[in-house]
Amino acid sequence: MFITIEGVDGSGKTTAIKKVAEKLEKAGYEVLLTREPGGEKISEQIRHLILADQSEGMDPWTEALLYLAARREHLSKVIIPALKANKIVISDRFMDSTSAYQGHGRGLGLEAVDTIQRVVVGDYVPNLTIYFDLDPQEAQRRLKTATKTKNRFDLEKKEFKDLVREGYQKLLQKYPDRFRVVDANQSLDNVEDQISRLIFEALEN
Ligand code: ATP
Ligand code: C5P
Ligand code: MG
Repeated sequence: MFITIEGVDGSGKTTAIKKVAEKLEKAGYEVLLTREPGGEKISEQIRHLILADQSEGMDPWTEALLYLAARREHLSKVIIPALKANKIVISDRFMDSTSAYQGHGRGLGLEAVDTIQRVVVGDYVPNLTIYFDLDPQEAQRRLKTATKTKNRFDLEKKEFKDLVREGYQKLLQKYPDRFRVVDANQSLDNVEDQISRLIFEALEN
């Protein structure tokens, strides 16, 4: 089972999924919790290359292709072996981030980016994608109080963040079978319950 977690920056993905992964392990499942961009040595180096870039001059296609290169490494070295070992793989961000951020947010075209992505991931499209829906302004407020190290994306304007959310909403409509929405504007306990229910439901099917 391959599960991915998506949503705008600060929507609470990392906080909630860590807890849910622990719950699944306690229930006896073997879980691999990983993240993108990163999750593997070369992929983490590419993450650093993109996030540390302060020039603001990176061509959007260069950025998208770097994310795809990082994804391919992560997929072939970490995700595919874990799936073959029958683990539940949960990735904190995956292909839909690139479609929403670079495809829609940066204006490369959601369709164009999504089409290339499907070539890169091949048969490894997630079985379930849990989308954290939250107003980007509320997400921004949460990040202001967080102790997380800032990267250049934290400086993006509201318009960009709104576009990213709109990109996700288009993806939800395009892939209704794979996407499930979580109301991320709830308490952490409530969000964890929503995710657990979705995952246990998927495991039973
Ligand atoms: P990013 O995409 O930037 O990695 P994220 O979606 O992983 O962000 P988190 O880092 O998990 O978001 O959370 C951002 C901040 O919001 C943290 O300070 C976290 O403690 C807080 N937070 C997480 N979930 C909730 C919640 N349900 N209600 C209120 N605050 C929350
Ligand atoms: O989720 P995480 O905090 O690890 O992501 C790191 C940063 O990379 C975030 O600020 C996110 O906005 C950005 N990102 C991006 N395009 C992607 C994936 C992540 O701009 N495709
Ligand atoms: Mg996170």
